[in-house]
Amino acid sequence: MEDIRVDIAAQQIPEKLYLMPLLSVVIYPYSVVQLLVRRKQNIDLIEHLQSQGIDILGLLVPKDPHLPEDADPKMLHPIGVAARIINTMRVGGSLQVVLQGIARIRMIEFLQEKPHLIGRVEDIEQPHVESAQTQTLLTDALRLFNRFISTNPRYSEEIIHIVEMNRQEGPGVISDLIASYINFRIDEKQELLELVDVDSRLRKLIDLLQRELEFLKVESEVQGRAKMEMEKAQREYFLRRQMEEIKKELGEGDQVSSDVATLKSRLEKLDLPKDVLELAAKEIGRLENMPSSSADYNVIHTYVETLLDLPWRIMTEDNLDIRKAAEILDQDHHGLIHVKERVLEYLSVLKLKRDLKGPILCLIGPPGVGKTSLGQSIARALGRKFVRMSLGGVRDEAEIRGHRKTYVGAMPGRIVQGIRKGGTRNPLFMIDEIDKISAERGDPASALLEVLDPEQNHNFRDNYIEIPFDVSSVLFITTANYMDAIPAPLLDRMEVIHLPGYTMEEKEMIARKYLVAKQREAHGLKESQISFSDEAIRWIIRGYTKEAGVRNLDREIAHICRKAAKDIAEGAAGPYIIKANSLEKYLGPIKHIAEEARTEDEIGVATGLAVTPTGGELLHIEATKVRGKEGIKLTGHLGDIMQESVQAALTYVRSKSEELGISQKEFEEHILHVHFPAGAVPKDGPSAGVAIATALASLMSGLAVRKDVAMTGEISLRGHVLPVGGIKDKILAAYRAGIPIVIMPEKNKNDLYDIPKEVERKTSFIYVNHADQVLREALVGGENLELK
Ligand code: ADP
Repeated sequence: MEDIRVDIAAQQIPEKLYLMPLLSVVIYPYSVVQLLVRRKQNIDLIEHLQSQGIDILGLLVPKDPHLPEDADPKMLHPIGVAARIINTMRVGGSLQVVLQGIARIRMIEFLQEKPHLIGRVEDIEQPHVESAQTQTLLTDALRLFNRFISTNPRYSEEIIHIVEMNRQEGPGVISDLIASYINFRIDEKQELLELVDVDSRLRKLIDLLQRELEFLKVESEVQGRAKMEMEKAQREYFLRRQMEEIKKELGEGDQVSSDVATLKSRLEKLDLPKDVLELAAKEIGRLENMPSSSADYNVIHTYVETLLDLPWRIMTEDNLDIRKAAEILDQDHHGLIHVKERVLEYLSVLKLKRDLKGPILCLIGPPGVGKTSLGQSIARALGRKFVRMSLGGVRDEAEIRGHRKTYVGAMPGRIVQGIRKGGTRNPLFMIDEIDKISAERGDPASALLEVLDPEQNHNFRDNYIEIPFDVSSVLFITTANYMDAIPAPLLDRMEVIHLPGYTMEEKEMIARKYLVAKQREAHGLKESQISFSDEAIRWIIRGYTKEAGVRNLDREIAHICRKAAKDIAEGAAGPYIIKANSLEKYLGPIKHIAEEARTEDEIGVATGLAVTPTGGELLHIEATKVRGKEGIKLTGHLGDIMQESVQAALTYVRSKSEELGISQKEFEEHILHVHFPAGAVPKDGPSAGVAIATALASLMSGLAVRKDVAMTGEISLRGHVLPVGGIKDKILAAYRAGIPIVIMPEKNKNDLYDIPKEVERKTSFIYVNHADQVLREALVGGENLELK
């Protein structure tokens, strides 16, 4: 088992704790326990804590084990344990929780009963107090414990090693560990917990262990006799009876038999493949012979439930009517004509080939451009279930492939979790943010590759599930914000569709046709109660959002609907007609001034274009010179990263000084200062090359740069213009700012095939291979330059 314990000595127990009554287990400090929480109240509590980001809570055992859900908190033992939530997972209607005890606590007073119990507590743990007898008592206890474990077939000898390994944690921790491993009665366990003084605890433990050993002796005598006297069948009957007796004695027979009965009846009703059926039956058999409070019991119980929950054979029938699919895509989305076409082509191939062996669709674009909702539409069109999993922040291979179930708090990987949630073997499975995957443990990208590979994925093996699950009928679609960050082997398997973002006009249409109606409905409002003027929508887009997609636009509209809904619920008459001049009332003062084109032709400033996570942006690059010994100074966002681009641009400009009418002295006697405004992103650095060269050439030659030109392109030392990424985003940015002329690398010409018609109409594109052409077009009077 791997150790996921925190250092408990370093943990501070807050004075106020949320409290959870635990009926069947006592958790001790240090030990890690996996529980299946079934009480709704407790599940609600844990989910509440998680939503608040709280991970420490108090656990108290009731004085009466049959505590009703709404019992008086005074019915709880005042001494309990503070524990940390390590992990949780939904298992059917229950919640599997992994907890680690931290310290004994005493309840001082209850501060709140509803909806969740909160109390003021104090930490009463005495970590390192030892008397003269402590070591002797500890040795006795360990001796008895070892004997008990090694003679009792119901316990694994591994426990002895675990306890041994923790010797250096001190007698307090050791006595707690022993207490947690042995199935004493719950009241005895509580008594051990209440013994804060380590010597008294060890004495009690010794008593209890002695009694257990006695009991074991009697038991084995009975068994010995039984062996001699009885036929096999009778013996089995006897042993079973005996086990029932023992379980009854320990107060856990009912739980086990009801769990087992539930699992068995589920198993009978399900249509499972033979190997799954056999495995599940075998594991259920193991459960029958275990105490319900043991750690293994919960592990196996959760495992069997997971096996039974998985849709081994359940599939939906695909609806491959392409015309219908086109209708659905159109119903759900405005615009995106090329994207929809590619999706339909993809579905047509699926229809003809009837298998999923082709490449995997990968939708790439900034947030809020409709990647997820396209996925949902495709699922709807096909009649498949939709499941979604994000890989953002995945660093460990086990998150894809699962942990072995012997690992404390083990869970299946995200693929299996998703399939379980979807409930069919062939959902449309959207894997988000595949560009955000990284490798810290193992290789998550290659695990994912295996999931996506049609040659291997009929046999996908999750470490937790152990037997292979066939994911070859799953329709995987991936999404990413940037293409560059996708691991190359994954990218090879995919067919990329770009969604660069929307123009103002498209956003306005999306808001009018979709978002307003959606938010109205989500807030229980009618069309007669709230409406938005076109001008208001335009202003929300322009003044309150800054994005390539429409996510914030959606959010701001929701915001207004929420306020209106509240007023109406409180009795306001309405109707609410949202106009541009009422936006401030709802959304506060304007947040974003749209990036603007320069208003004048200026010397030493060029308008570059960059790609950021919210789409394209203008990048006004400024250059000035001050007297001093020849040199360059870079400032502003990413100044350092731009170093090479600036050097290349400068070398080019110097090589053209004669044509530009610049004397060499100008370079020798000045420090050139280039400033980069915020907004540029590192990997986009080189694409500012032509803009830097233009700013420098303008500065040195005294020719102004035209205000109506924006540009992008990398340049070489000799002035060749090289292609760059993100062309569509960049063009949209220029268009949004009202810049009519865009200079771009000739080699990027093909990227223009699906830009919106209106953008194409209103923008002139100038394709260039060399920076000379850039200067001719961008500098005022540039057409007269005799650049060779
Ligand atoms: P992404 O997954 O790309 O981040 P989403 O799919 O979550 O974006 O889209 C955000 C919201 O914008 C959703 O409510 C979606 O329905 C809406 N939306 C995005 N693009 C369009 C579109 N072309 N037509 C209608 N609604 C859209």
